[in-house]
Amino acid sequence: QGPNDELGRLVATLNDMLDSLESAYRELAESHAAQKRFVADVSHELRTPLTTIRGNIALIRKMGDAEPQIREEALADIASEAERMSRLVSDMLVLARADAGLTLQLQPTAVQPLIEQIKRQAKLLAKDINFQVHMETACEKTLIMADPDYLRQLILILLDNAFKFTAANGTVELAVKCGGDQVEVAVKDTGMGISPAELEHIFERFYRSDKSRPVGGTGLGLSIARWIAAQHKSQITVESTVGQGSVFKVTLPVINENTLHLDHD
Ligand code: ADP
Repeated sequence: QGPNDELGRLVATLNDMLDSLESAYRELAESHAAQKRFVADVSHELRTPLTTIRGNIALIRKMGDAEPQIREEALADIASEAERMSRLVSDMLVLARADAGLTLQLQPTAVQPLIEQIKRQAKLLAKDINFQVHMETACEKTLIMADPDYLRQLILILLDNAFKFTAANGTVELAVKCGGDQVEVAVKDTGMGISPAELEHIFERFYRSDKSRPVGGTGLGLSIARWIAAQHKSQITVESTVGQGSVFKVTLPVINENTLHLDHD
C-alpha cells in the first residue's frame, strides 16, 4: 500500500475518465453531424415540392384562363405535392420526437383486435393487389407488450411498402404466428425485391432506391419502423430476392398469464 500504488490507481482512474469523456464527446460530435445532415436533408426535401407548387401557380396565373386543361393538371400537381409535404412533415415529426428521446409506453395489448384493425386500414391501400391476412388461431388469446398505435404504424409502413413495390395482380400477405413465446408478424410481397446493395441502406433516413423514386414515398418509412421496433425491444429482419419479392419480419415477446399477474401485484 505504498504511495506508488495510490498514484497508479489515480492515473488509472484519470485514464478511465479521459476515455469516457472522449467517447462521450465523439458520440456528441457524431450525433451533431447526423443532426446537421438531417436538417439539411429535410430542407432539401421540403424545398423540392415547394418549387413545384410555385411553378404550377405561376403556370395557372399565366395561362390558366385560356387553357382549362393545363389549369386542371397544374392544380392536381399542387394537390399531390402538398400531400407529399404533409406526409414529410408528419414523418419528420415522429423522427424528431425519437431523436429527442421519446420512449414509448408499452402496455399489455391483445394481438387479434390489433391485427383486425390493421387489416381494415390496409385494405384501403391495397388497390389492385391481392391482399391476404393469415393469423394463427392461438392469436385470439395472445397478449404482447406494445404501444398499439405505434405498432400499428410499424406494420402499416411495411404493408404500404409491400403494396407500393408490388405490381398490380401481385400478392401481399400479412402472416401472424402466435404459437410460441414470441409473436411473429411477417409482411410478404411478390414485388420487385431489393438487391443486397440496396438492403444495406433501406433503413437510412431519406434513402430510396432509384427505381422507387417514381413511386413517391418519403424515404422515412423504414427509419420510423426501425425506431418503433427498437422501442419494442425488437428488430426488423428482411429477406428479399430481386424480381421475386420481399419478406419483412418483426417478432414481439408474448406475455403469459403469470407475467401479467406479477405485473399487477
Ligand atoms: P419509401 O417507401 O417512402 O421510399 P422507406 O424508408 O419505407 O421509404 O423505404 C426505403 C426504400 O426501401 C424504398 O424506397 C425501396 O427502395 C425499398 N423498399 C422498402 N420496402 C420494399 C419492398 N417491400 N419491396 C421493394 N423495395 C422496398
